Amino acid sequence: MHDVVIVGAGPVGLFLACELGLAGCSVLVLEREAEAGSPFKAAALGLRGLNAASVEAFYRRGMLHRLLTASGAADDRGADPQGEPSPPRRGGHFAGIMLDGAKFDEASLPFLLPGPAAGGLITNLEAVEAVLSEQAAKLGVEVRRGVTVSALAHDKEGVVARAGTAEYPARWLVGCDGGRSTVRRLAGFDFTGTEPRFTGYRMQATFADPEKLSFGFNLTSTGMYLQIAEGNIGMMDFDGGAFDRSQEPTRDHLQAVLRRVSGTDVTVTGVDLSSTFTDRAMQTSSYRQGRVLLAGDAAHIHSPLGGQGLNLGIGDAVNLGWKLAATVLGRAPDALLDTYTRERHPVGAQVLDWSRAQVAIMSPDPHAQAIQAVVRDLLSTSDGTTYALGRISGTSVRYDLGGDHPLIGRNAPDLRLADGTRLGDLMQDGRGVALDFSTGGRLRASVTGRESRIRYVAGPARNDLGLGAVLVRPDGVVAWAAGDRPDTDAFERTADHWFGAPTTD
Ligand SMILES: Cc1cc2nc3c(=O)[nH]c(=O)nc-3n(C[C@H](O)[C@H](O)[C@H](O)COP(=O)(O)OP(=O)(O)OC[C@H]3O[C@@H](n4cnc5c(N)ncnc54)[C@H](O)[C@@H]3O)c2cc1C
Repeated sequence: MHDVVIVGAGPVGLFLACELGLAGCSVLVLEREAEAGSPFKAAALGLRGLNAASVEAFYRRGMLHRLLTASGAADDRGADPQGEPSPPRRGGHFAGIMLDGAKFDEASLPFLLPGPAAGGLITNLEAVEAVLSEQAAKLGVEVRRGVTVSALAHDKEGVVARAGTAEYPARWLVGCDGGRSTVRRLAGFDFTGTEPRFTGYRMQATFADPEKLSFGFNLTSTGMYLQIAEGNIGMMDFDGGAFDRSQEPTRDHLQAVLRRVSGTDVTVTGVDLSSTFTDRAMQTSSYRQGRVLLAGDAAHIHSPLGGQGLNLGIGDAVNLGWKLAATVLGRAPDALLDTYTRERHPVGAQVLDWSRAQVAIMSPDPHAQAIQAVVRDLLSTSDGTTYALGRISGTSVRYDLGGDHPLIGRNAPDLRLADGTRLGDLMQDGRGVALDFSTGGRLRASVTGRESRIRYVAGPARNDLGLGAVLVRPDGVVAWAAGDRPDTDAFERTADHWFGAPTTD
């Protein structure tokens, strides 16, 4: 009997397993694939963009250095622990319209501080999963491969996952088994949304006449193609999603689609790897059914336009991990677990709409293209760029937690103490953090009896952003913040709400 069984050792299942393992839960991950690696997970087809919020999740658990190394990225983000990292290079696109990071209005984020994780990262699924697998093993998480879960039984006491004749009992089960989730179906979750408009393709190919194709995003009157690196091609073909999974994409088919969407007569001489996908956009209305929960693609699917799915899933795992752990360990305040759906469902719904909006204006019809021209103009302004990059980077996410201070519900800035210690360094053990910059450490007594759940750190900050104190949840979200003279009663009410009352242990 494990505390939690996770179905699926993709990036979301592994991240969640690490969060639960860190908190001291016993975790078993069941994975269908017998081997960890796959050519579809390595660069080039496994290439993925992590946004600043996801990079920060790795940073706060001490995995940033390993992630940068595994991704082949320069590890210059915290090279001088006492110095300040250079401001992040911002960038991205909306519907293939490139955004100019220089137009981003930094003043729109008054609570952002420079830190090792302030920018995004281009990585690949293999690197992400390797780093998380290593971390999971260190934390005592068992990953059992070659196990396909095909049946579930669950009641008020627990859950049993079945794979063939083997049974895996647990107190809780989380389906992180991807867009075609078996757990979602077996546990009776709904899954509703919109049907696809296109079949998307990724391929690594060679060409007789590569000069006929351009690099970057190419929006045409018949669709879109993208060349990320030589021969690494993405395509959108507005066929209503008919081709996807109906048959294997042959060289002739891929060439015909590429000719159509590029408006060229380019010749494909060889295809090393290819895959297809669609922009079907669906979501469950609740991420929990009793003792079964969903996270990542199992809870929501949408087109990969703008690279949001993995970021959304990591956000789910970080949000769910500490809440489920506190519930398992019997120290969760009432209804803590219900805040998982309440906070993450709206973020998922926004990402689905962000992806639908992009598809709508890329469609090869004159009305869509007219809107595309207007959007292009708007995105060339500073306000437009700031808006779009805020959505893409995850920095605009704010949970509705109540409270007056504008930081409450937002991702915490990487506040730094006078000795150079960063908030990110203080979060590695998975506890919440109370940073108290007030004279005399007014909040010290309010944390007494909660030390196993909240780390208390007092002292002046290098730049306190006008804050007297701040309470940060284990997922990095600000639960409470105050100016000059923090109100200890308000702090204690918030600490009770998220972490439970003080205890003697
Ligand atoms: C072309 C493309 C480009 C993308 N680019 C980006 C990007 O740049 N940025 C971004 O944020 N997102 C991107 N995405 C989306 C991102 O890849 C996914 O959202 C992410 O991989 C989902 O992770 P997951 O762990 O939820 O699911 P998965 O990665 O699908 O993992 C699910 C795991 O569950 C296992 N499994 C399934 N069924 C069972 C079962 N019955 N029993 C046991 N195990 C099971 C599977 O084998 C798999 O290992 C892209 C997607 C595509 C298709």
